[in-house]
Amino acid sequence: MGWEWNHGTLPYLYVSEWTSRGVETGFSSRHGGVSTGAYASLNLGLHVGDTPETVLENRGRWLARFGADWQGVAVGEQVHGSHVLWVENSDGGRGARSLDTALPQVDGLLTQSGLGLMAFFADCVPIFFYHPRLEAVGLAHAGWKGTVGKIVLRMLEALAERGGRPEEAWVALGPSIGACCYEVDEPLAERFRVDFEETPFLTPTCQGHYRLDLGQANQIMLRTAGVPEEQIAVAGQCSACHPDRFFSHRRDGIPTGRMAGWIRHRGKGES
Ligand SMILES: [Zn+2]
Repeated sequence: MGWEWNHGTLPYLYVSEWTSRGVETGFSSRHGGVSTGAYASLNLGLHVGDTPETVLENRGRWLARFGADWQGVAVGEQVHGSHVLWVENSDGGRGARSLDTALPQVDGLLTQSGLGLMAFFADCVPIFFYHPRLEAVGLAHAGWKGTVGKIVLRMLEALAERGGRPEEAWVALGPSIGACCYEVDEPLAERFRVDFEETPFLTPTCQGHYRLDLGQANQIMLRTAGVPEEQIAVAGQCSACHPDRFFSHRRDGIPTGRMAGWIRHRGKGES
């Protein structure tokens, strides 16, 4: 099970095995939009200084790729926290066209509705959830703060609230910054040591510095919580290593653009 490219004028990665189960997934590249300069060309983030009209044109193209409209999507504010939220049909359109209407203070969304969930990334780990029996899908945003805050466990707890077991969950990690390009200092490494029994995702480099593998840290939490390894798909593509494909906050600094993650349960039809 893995991620594959869907090529075309607006290329994106998707989890092919979920498609046949009625779950649409997407992780955009930087290509196919109308933004210029550091945002070229498919910047989908409204919060990074790009012209709003340009971002909305890009978002319109992205949604059109999936045949979705503005009311058929919900977006969270993304504050590098670990709060998650069940999204209902009445939330359709939240955050789609403006930051003001985004679902406040959340970095993880789940839904049993037919709404699409969308979140934005440039290095942070996009984590897609699919729970077949609940017919639920989810999308979480996990940078180092969301990882140390264990947002993936909050997602599994939210599924449990509705009767879903971790053993039944399918999870896919999209492109994010790899250990190859993510060096952190001692105080940050210590944050992880305090909250994790073991930290194989921290590799010492020179004195007081470590390579941090955020994807591995999240995978360990998922597996320990009971998600079977064979139900976890990992894109394994480093956002910083591929300037031709992805924006990277660590590599490009400010300003740079954002890719979008998208997930929708097609079995539910359009809302
Ligand atoms: Zn890299």
